[in-house]
Amino acid sequence: MQVIETIAAFRQVRSRYTGLGFVPTMGYLHEGHLSLVHRAKEECGAVAVSIFVNPTQFGPNEDFAGYPRDPKRDLELLEKEQVDLVFTPSPGEIYPPGSTTVVEVGDVTEMLEGAARPGHFRGVATIVCKLFNIVQASRAYFGQKDAQQTVVIAKMVRDLDMSLDVVVCPTVREPDGLAISSRNVYLTVDERRAAVVLYRALTAAEKHFGAGERSSEALRRIMHDTLATEPQADIEYISLADRDTLRELDRVPPRGALASLAMRIGKTRLIDNCILEK
Ligand code: AMP
Repeated sequence: MQVIETIAAFRQVRSRYTGLGFVPTMGYLHEGHLSLVHRAKEECGAVAVSIFVNPTQFGPNEDFAGYPRDPKRDLELLEKEQVDLVFTPSPGEIYPPGSTTVVEVGDVTEMLEGAARPGHFRGVATIVCKLFNIVQASRAYFGQKDAQQTVVIAKMVRDLDMSLDVVVCPTVREPDGLAISSRNVYLTVDERRAAVVLYRALTAAEKHFGAGERSSEALRRIMHDTLATEPQADIEYISLADRDTLRELDRVPPRGALASLAMRIGKTRLIDNCILEK
C-alpha cells in the first residue's frame, strides 16, 4: 500500500494502474467506509482511498476543527484491506492560494441538507470533482447513508460528462439499527441510546409503506410521531421525496421514494434515510 500526500506524486504512481476503483472519505474510518472498500476491491483491479477532511464543505459554525481524526488507525485499517493507494493531501495541497473555481450542481443541492447547510454541496461537489480529476478512477464508491450526496455527485458526473461510474452502496448499521457514522463518537451514552429513534422512524415508514400506505403526508406523520417519542430528538426535517429530483411528493409513485430525516440530539446532528420501494 502506498500512501501519497501530493497531487504530483499521486499522478506519477497512478499511471501504473488501470481500472482503478476510488473511495473518497474524510477518514476516521469505520465499517461503513470499509464496505465501500470491499465493494471496490470486488469490482476493480486496484483500489485508491482518499482521506481528506474537506474544509470547504463545513459551515462556519460546524465541526471542521473538532471533526474526529485518527490517521494512524485509518492507515492500519486500509493496509489490512490491502488497498493499493491512499491519498492524504493537506488542505494547502488541495486549495493553494488563489484557487477560486467551484462546482455548483444547482437544483438538487437546494433542499434537505443543502437548505440546512448552505454551501455544503458546493464544497462537496468541488472536492469530489478535484479528486476525480486527480485519481482518474473508472468507478467511484459512495454510501447510501448520504443519500443527497449520491444524487448530487451522480448529477455532476452526468452534467459535466465525467467518464466514470458512480456506485452507491447500502448503509451499514450498528446492531440496533443506528447508521454508523464518524460523528457517532460525539454522542454520550444516553444520547447514543436515544439516537436509534432515527432508524425506528424509518422502519415505521417502511412498515406502513409495506402495508400499502402511499400518502406522503401520512408517511411523514408516521416518522414524525415516532421521532416525537424521543424527548432528546430535535427534528430538523422529515422528507418524502423523488429519488432523483429530491422534490417533495404528494404520493409515493410506483418507482418508490426517498424517505430522509435529520435531527439533533444534544450537540450532534444525525441524518439517515431509506428508499421506500416495492
Ligand atoms: P465520510 O468520511 O463521512 O465523508 O464518508 C465517506 C463515504 O463513506 C461516503 O460515501 C459516505 O456516504 C460513506 N459512508 C459513511 N457512513 C456510511 C455507512 N454507515 N454505510 C455506508 N456508507 C457510509
